[in-house]
Amino acid sequence: MTWEVVLTAQCELGEGPVWDDQHCRILWVDIVCGRIHQWYLEKRRHVVVNVGEDVGAIALRKNGGLVAALRNGFAEVDLSNGVPNYLAYQEHDLENNRFNDGKCDSYGRFWAGTMDDVSNAVGAGKLYALDLDYSVSPKIMDVTCSNGLAWSSDDRVFYFIDTPTRSVVAFDYAGDTGMISNKRLAISFSAEEGWPDGMTIDEEGMLWIAFWGGWKVVRWNPNTGEKLVEVKFPVSQITSCTFGGEDLGDLYVTTARMGLTNNGLLSQPYAGSLFVVRDLPCRGVPPYRFGG
Ligand code: CA
Repeated sequence: MTWEVVLTAQCELGEGPVWDDQHCRILWVDIVCGRIHQWYLEKRRHVVVNVGEDVGAIALRKNGGLVAALRNGFAEVDLSNGVPNYLAYQEHDLENNRFNDGKCDSYGRFWAGTMDDVSNAVGAGKLYALDLDYSVSPKIMDVTCSNGLAWSSDDRVFYFIDTPTRSVVAFDYAGDTGMISNKRLAISFSAEEGWPDGMTIDEEGMLWIAFWGGWKVVRWNPNTGEKLVEVKFPVSQITSCTFGGEDLGDLYVTTARMGLTNNGLLSQPYAGSLFVVRDLPCRGVPPYRFGG
């Protein structure tokens, strides 16, 4: 399995790819530049929308449009002009905090977590869920760098990455209430792997995890803790991945320029690009959308 560059978008902090089968496009964010990128596969068209503030994550809505976890809270964003309409302000009083990774569950709630992006203070963030009625509930307290989220195919397990813990934790998940419980360690990573960042799950229930500072995405079995497949990239800051394409057989991978020195940028000309890996041994599952 080898990588291809889809687009040298040169994102500072490319993140949170989302596949949209209805428009045959991949969307992703450049968090610290406040931009939402869209790449239409068939038309080969790249569209960038400026939101005007940090955009941690996005999710498609069932009735069209999208929701976003912006620096100051949850909002719907008009993709024609980037204008946000706030649904719920969250941590807007915590000056150092912004939203980071996020994703929808099968019931249509949008989960997204926060972090202190000024001092990286330990436990300064939380993982929240935006419910269908726009109420917000905290799900996990004392998070340092809220990152990858995934739900098992049978919808009974929720997986979560708080990056500095170098682990994936699992919870029992109750879809009807959105409650998570019974936290346990699913995978623990050694320092040489890099920092676990965003992730996605495939149809066999295996996790595909992006490693910041790790030059790779790795397929991991969360039930046994066994490493299955490693895909290497020519850039070090791998941030997240999701399955896309007609049959959900391609893996789209976001990357960052942030955190690289001048020399690092010179030796990694593709840093910040969107990559794709084809001919995978499995397929993904389609992303859930926000709303009832
Ligand atoms: Ca991330």
